[in-house]
This record gives sequence, C-alpha cells and structure tokens, in this order.
Amino acid sequence: MAERLGAVRERLAAACRAAGRDPDEVSLLAVTKTIPAADVATLLDLGLTAFAENRAQEAAAKVAEVARLRPDAKPRWHFVGGLQRNKVRLVTPWVTRIESVDSPRLARAIDAEIGRARERGERDRPLPVLVQYSVDGDPGRGGVPDDGLDTLVDLVAELPGLEPAGLMAVAPLDREPERAFAEIAAAARRIRARHPGASELSAGMSGDLETAIDHGSTVVRVGTALVGDRRLTSE
Ligand SMILES: *Cc1c(COP(=O)(O)O)cnc(C)c1O
Repeated sequence: MAERLGAVRERLAAACRAAGRDPDEVSLLAVTKTIPAADVATLLDLGLTAFAENRAQEAAAKVAEVARLRPDAKPRWHFVGGLQRNKVRLVTPWVTRIESVDSPRLARAIDAEIGRARERGERDRPLPVLVQYSVDGDPGRGGVPDDGLDTLVDLVAELPGLEPAGLMAVAPLDREPERAFAEIAAAARRIRARHPGASELSAGMSGDLETAIDHGSTVVRVGTALVGDRRLTSE
C-alpha cells in the first residue's frame, strides 16, 4: 500500500504541475469502502488522514473498529454514497462531511439529526456537506439534476445544522471526460458564486483524477489505485 500511495501522490503532483496548480489545493480522500479496518489503520500509519465510505451500516462498524485499532489517530470520515433518510442517524455520530446530499428531503433529514445531536451536546457546529451533482440527470445514479442544484444549495445554506461546502460529482462513464468535467466545473462555479463558502469541488477518481484536477477539482476520491486488489484477499 505504501507503493501504491507513492504512485498516487506522484500522479497528483504531476497533474497539478500540468495544470499549473498548487498541489496544496488538491486533497486526497482515500475511499476505503472495499477494505477492512486493519487496512485503514495501515493507511493512517502511512500518513493519510481522510477516508470515505459509501454504506452507512458497514461504515459505522468500520469507523468504530479503526478507532479501537488506532485510538490516538484522528481520522476524518466522509460519506460519499447514496443515503436513505432512515440511515442518517447511523452516519451523523462520526461523519466529518457528507458529500452526497442530493435532495431537499435528505438535507432536511440530516439537519434534523444534527439538531438532535446538538440538543444532546454531541455537536456544536453545523455539518459541512457537499451537494452531489448529476451531470446527466440520470436519477438512478444519485445526484441532483442541473435544474434542482441552485435550490438545493440554497436550502442547505438556510438549514441551521448544515453548511454548504461545495459540490461533488462522479463523471458518467458514457460521456467524454473532458466535457463531463467541464460541465461539473461550471456547476461548481455557479454555486460558489451564490455561496462563496461552498468552494470545494470533489471530483476525480482513480481513472480520471488528472482530468478532474485540470478542471479545478479540490478533492480527489481514490479507491482502487490506492487499495488495489486488497479487497480480494483481505477480510
Ligand atoms: C468507489 C468510489 C470512488 C473511488 O473509485 P475508484 O475508481 O475505486 O478510485 C469515488 N467516489 C465514489 C462516490 C465512490 O463510490
């Protein structure tokens, strides 16, 4: 995993050089959905601090196990998957940022749960969230379509428990990457203009992080390139 991490960091540095960007502007989010807690502990030992999961129940168990394995580490956990409203309470106790807010109903459900956590004294500030943007408007793949984006970000800004931190998107496989990331970047600029604090753009994965960085991504979510085929042999 050390070798893979080195290779990913090299790719990030090269992509930033090619795009004329400061490497400090782009952070690496390790997507750990396929690997066990012990491997996350290894990634922590290698210096990674931000991890992402996409299934509420599995994630809650893994977060607890990582805390047991590395009690002194302070990992940040992002949630990047489809989230049902009745699973929100499994995520809010540990999540640092939810990147997959894609409907007003989900935004309100998260806000309500954060409100309850505040009343219990478990949280003292709003939860930063990213609104997930659907490039092609395909409802099956998650993300808010273009015509619902502004309203959803405005709602997130109004809800007391949430704070709009930016945009997340997955480039559809059937679209030309340059075009997909250009569209994603345009949507990110649009919401940044409405809400200057919503400055993050989480875009780019193992296969397309260079194109994403060229189009202004500030967070790349990398799974396969980091963890390789560990998922086949571990657990
Ligand atoms: C799995 C996943 C990733 C990582 O994809 P890789 O191709 O394995 O790097 C990124 N974002 C989301 C939302 C994912 O579910």
